[in-house]
Amino acid sequence: MPEEVVANHPQIPQGYLSAQSTVISDMLSLPQTGDRELYDGMPVVQLLTSPDDLANFLSIFYDPSHALLAKDEFDLAYKLMGALVLADMLLIEPVKNAIIDRVREDWEIHSVQHWRSKVNAFAKTQDPSKKCRKHLYVEPAAVLHSARRFDETVITPMLIFELAFRDPYLEYHNLEEHILDIQSPALETRWDMFSTSEKRKVRNYREEFLDILATRLPQLRSECTTDYHSDQAFCTKYFRESVDEIFKLLLQGYHPFRLLESNKLNGLRTYSRLNVFEDDIDIYEDAICIPCGRAWDEKLERFQSDLFAEIPMVFQKIW
Ligand SMILES: [Zn+2]
Repeated sequence: MPEEVVANHPQIPQGYLSAQSTVISDMLSLPQTGDRELYDGMPVVQLLTSPDDLANFLSIFYDPSHALLAKDEFDLAYKLMGALVLADMLLIEPVKNAIIDRVREDWEIHSVQHWRSKVNAFAKTQDPSKKCRKHLYVEPAAVLHSARRFDETVITPMLIFELAFRDPYLEYHNLEEHILDIQSPALETRWDMFSTSEKRKVRNYREEFLDILATRLPQLRSECTTDYHSDQAFCTKYFRESVDEIFKLLLQGYHPFRLLESNKLNGLRTYSRLNVFEDDIDIYEDAICIPCGRAWDEKLERFQSDLFAEIPMVFQKIW
């Protein structure tokens, strides 16, 4: 038992806690012999745990809406590892479930629309005047670590997909000081928590997914269908170059969905370049025509949806 715990002796009302845990009620109902350790007249329960883990555990036990489980606490799987072990040891299911359910909720992404709404909701919480958080989900390596021991169903296809597109050389550091930029390259994770075989599987997942992308990306190329431009080849050339650029960035480690999302035109490159008069439209030579711009965005969305459907397929094959 660590010194600090002895020094602190947190006093816990035993009625409620032992009502929740047969382990604790058994500890407390041991016959009161002369050897029984008492502190300030109260029985001492020996727990092999750090004071921080015990404090986290008790915080969640008495307040399941505690900030440790808040939606923007993206490092909770790591911070609460000890509390989870303690909840499991003491057979306190509500604390265990509260932690596991919170993590599960974050990593169950059912569709690309679901993913997109999560990204958009996250973007709204960012305060541009401050250093921003860059993480959208609970840190996945710590999730994998605890899921392995307590609940394998938390290892979702999305979790492994995300790990596959983390930077394989970047160790987890200083989370709070970055901006989630939709075009930024890969994020880091806690690679030291992986077994060798898990690392290999994650790498295989990435290779398999990149193969699928390489095969399918040419589908995104499209030909201009209008005569808006004197140089009709402009749209065609723009899309061909965009596809080449996407492929290059994927090989550099960019996240496929964030990258595809950032290549949407959303009318910007088309409309912003148009001068609209009463019934006359001036087309700039370096803008994409409106029909092509729309077709490109629709194509990208379909492409993302089809790609998303591959996430569980590759998971079944590799994991
Ligand atoms: Zn066009």
